[in-house]
Amino acid sequence: MKIAVAKGDGIGPEIMDAVITIFKAADVPLEYDYVDMGKWVFDKGFNNGMTDDAKKTIEALGILFKGPMETPKGKGVKSINVTARKTWNTYANKRVFQTLHGVDTVFSKAGIPIDITIVRENIEDTYGGIEHMLTHDVALSRRFITRPGSMQVIRYAFEMARQKNARRITCGHKANIMKITDGLFLECFYEVAKEYPELKADDVIVDDLCMKLVVQPNNFDVVVLTNLQGDIVSDLCAGLVGGLGFAPSANIGDHICIFEAVHGTAPDIAGKNIANPTALLLSGIAMLRHLGLLEKAGQIENALLYTLEQGVHTGDFGDKSIPSVNTTAFADAVIANLGKKPEQNAKPELADVASSCTVLHLDKNVMLESKETSQEKIVGVDLFIESSELPEVIAKKCQRHAGVKFNIVNVSNRGTQVWPTGSVYTNLVNQYNVRFESIDDHSLTQQDVIGLYVSLSGDFKICSLELLNEWDGKKAYSLAQGQ
Ligand code: NAD
Repeated sequence: MKIAVAKGDGIGPEIMDAVITIFKAADVPLEYDYVDMGKWVFDKGFNNGMTDDAKKTIEALGILFKGPMETPKGKGVKSINVTARKTWNTYANKRVFQTLHGVDTVFSKAGIPIDITIVRENIEDTYGGIEHMLTHDVALSRRFITRPGSMQVIRYAFEMARQKNARRITCGHKANIMKITDGLFLECFYEVAKEYPELKADDVIVDDLCMKLVVQPNNFDVVVLTNLQGDIVSDLCAGLVGGLGFAPSANIGDHICIFEAVHGTAPDIAGKNIANPTALLLSGIAMLRHLGLLEKAGQIENALLYTLEQGVHTGDFGDKSIPSVNTTAFADAVIANLGKKPEQNAKPELADVASSCTVLHLDKNVMLESKETSQEKIVGVDLFIESSELPEVIAKKCQRHAGVKFNIVNVSNRGTQVWPTGSVYTNLVNQYNVRFESIDDHSLTQQDVIGLYVSLSGDFKICSLELLNEWDGKKAYSLAQGQ
């Protein structure tokens, strides 16, 4: 079996060499095809950070094992890490956080075991990176949460929870505030939950979740979240088990999967051979399991756990009274311990299974469609305009353009209603949302909206617009605060 390997930047080559050395010493039946990806590839003029050959190899092999990569700052290029996850639709980011004996934390000292798997949606949310300056003072990020995208990651989380006999699966969200976006994610969660009656499914608001994870981490098992919240919560969980040096990650898609550590390129320690290779090794072990190589995965993990139990550590963790070892010596210690089992938490060394991941080659893009049909009607439009005038002045000017089809329902600023009612204590910025709805709830056409747009553009610069849709009589948009 062949996989693509990208060593990455900073400490990437050092820790990748350490891990591949361990794999080779353990006779892992893999061949490695090294591909060109990372900052040095950006520097050569490839503006997505990888060569065409690298892309072809990864798409042909279906598995990428990668070191951390740096995105050049201020050159207008997007993160290669995010680009890779999104381009190849690795929709689920799975991060397992477990107590490691020999890695002291407040919880290990208190005898509280941790075994939490975070599944983070990996494609959507603010990571779309669709951002615009609407005025000199106002920046906008579009946050897409989609039904098919949410269903993909939530289904994966439930399936994985079933396979690991999880006690509980929790959805972290902020649907109390973002009722439409996070509300959709939460709705998908409970829709999928119906298919898994044996799993205890519940939800926790993300801020409360952070507090509960810190206070009682052993109450959680599998947690699924949207992209940004998942990113933050998974770093919090890394802290619970000893830091980023122990946080592995698998980016799972239907065709291509990427295995990497959660941490970055650690430029402060790069080139010194002192980085901790544990997170990348744990990611590699997860990759072996994904490939069905269960016996080697168990053997190597047991050797790693044994090594940690013996107190062998790199400089970033462990008992300071025992001298630390460098990256190479840490890998050598794991190799010397192959065949040994830790006293605590030894892993089963199961027989290999046939790999469930055959590379399904595609010849065209897949359209993820929701099969639901609904009665749709345009009932208004939100026009986002640039202005430094007061709300009453804006409303008066806008009235002139409403014509016979539209009513001005309200004017809001940063999501807070400032007209027809509001407070003088609401600070304003130079961009308003003027909400026009159809008179008597009549159905509108896009031409009606364009007519309004053209008319209003005589008085204001219109920065952006959103149609107000009603589906099956239900408003498909949020109300302004105070509306
Ligand atoms: P970082 O994770 O590289 O470093 C944060 C701190 O943790 C540093 O003090 C570093 O020395 C330490 N650290 C990280 N990994 C370690 C290891 N294996 N052993 C010992 N110490 C370790 O985060 P950062 O400094 O915010 O980011 C540096 C660069 O990495 C940036 O260019 C960022 O974009 C990139 N990055 C890449 C990835 C990825 O490739 N998936 C993820 C995060 C950050």
